[in-house]
Amino acid sequence: MTMTAMLPAASVGAVRELADIQALDAADPLSRFRERFVISEPNVVYLDGNSLGRLPVASRERLGRVVDDEWGTELVRGWSRWLDEPTRVGDLLARDVLGAEPGEVLVGDSTTVNLFKLTHAAASLARQQDPERRVLVTTADNFPTDRYVLEGVAGQLGMELRLVDAGKLDAALGPDTALLSVSHVEYASGGRHDLAGITALARSHGTRVLWDLSHSAGAVPVELTASGAELAVGCTYKYLNAGPGAPAYLYVSRGLQPLLRSPIWGWFSQADQFEMKAGYAPAPGIGRFAAGTPPILGLPLVEAGAQLIGEAGIAALAAKSVALTELIIELADAWLTPLDFHVVTPREASRRGAHVSLAHPQARQICRALIESADVIPDFRAAADGSGTIRLGPAPLYTRYADVWEAMVRLRNLVTAGDHVGFSEATGRVS
Ligand SMILES: *Cc1c(COP(=O)(O)O)cnc(C)c1O
Repeated sequence: MTMTAMLPAASVGAVRELADIQALDAADPLSRFRERFVISEPNVVYLDGNSLGRLPVASRERLGRVVDDEWGTELVRGWSRWLDEPTRVGDLLARDVLGAEPGEVLVGDSTTVNLFKLTHAAASLARQQDPERRVLVTTADNFPTDRYVLEGVAGQLGMELRLVDAGKLDAALGPDTALLSVSHVEYASGGRHDLAGITALARSHGTRVLWDLSHSAGAVPVELTASGAELAVGCTYKYLNAGPGAPAYLYVSRGLQPLLRSPIWGWFSQADQFEMKAGYAPAPGIGRFAAGTPPILGLPLVEAGAQLIGEAGIAALAAKSVALTELIIELADAWLTPLDFHVVTPREASRRGAHVSLAHPQARQICRALIESADVIPDFRAAADGSGTIRLGPAPLYTRYADVWEAMVRLRNLVTAGDHVGFSEATGRVS
């Protein structure tokens, strides 16, 4: 395709220039982290770190070592050390990413399975403490797996699921609420909820909150202890760069742990696991939320991802993320509004996560054209009403300001030239 399309007249305005953008990269304290990632196609602008993070160089080597030196050489003797990996890597996440205490985070299973375990456990406890509590509440726009798991658990426990507008949580909570489940950053809009504020609001209604941190941890400050959070889950393959299908994590505050029972009574959650006793008794501590054999090949990748985040520091990552998303919004307002786009994501930095969603009537075609003909990789997310948004997720650990600039130039030029027309509107496997 051609990259020579002209600027729409209305767009010549007060935006920064390429030189300003290059100056931002030159002054970026995180710029040195880009070379810690495998970047095999330099012309591709990757803006989908909110869906699958890039491969850290260290992870390649780490995975090779686990396979050759640990599995290949130690064989079953490796278990004496591997047994502690889910909590050891959990402690690292707790310290460097989640603002939690040692012994409060466990790595393993998928986010979906961890959602199931904690939803079932917390809803059962709420009802046991007060039989009137039989409603699970979540936002209508929450990630599909979160809604489906809640729907399933509600059915299994004879409870009811209430889907509410994200702005109307207060009115939805009451003496009948068994659990509130919220994504810290909403995957579709990019809006961010107030962790401490909603935790306190729910508590004033006698309700606990289960937070899903999948779209926030690693790019947005998450202070679980300081926020009074009691329950959380999240994945590690987005901003934590642990790779496709990498094990997820769960968090339960220390005080709540003895009160909860996982619905999966697996041998890895059993007290005195290797005594192979007749009956089940849950382990003390966070280990009671394990299930079966932990994913030993994935755990070192979670560790490598978390170490990079720890080295960069969440404060620096969050500051850069605000600046990167601000740049997208600035350029979208100037260049894309005349082309029928609008920014869905909140403009107030404290109210958004690390990605920006742009609505357009032909969003699906434009997204496909960007990937196939302009070497820009964002993603498309359909909305329930049939429309949809293009999500731009400039992961702050490896995305340059110049990458955002380049992607926005290519997007503007593509739509100005009409180069997206003719790209398929058909739904792909993943969008
Ligand atoms: C990415 C994401 C998930 C993913 O769940 P999996 O079990 O890993 O497929 C769940 N919830 C939210 C909010 C997410 O953003």
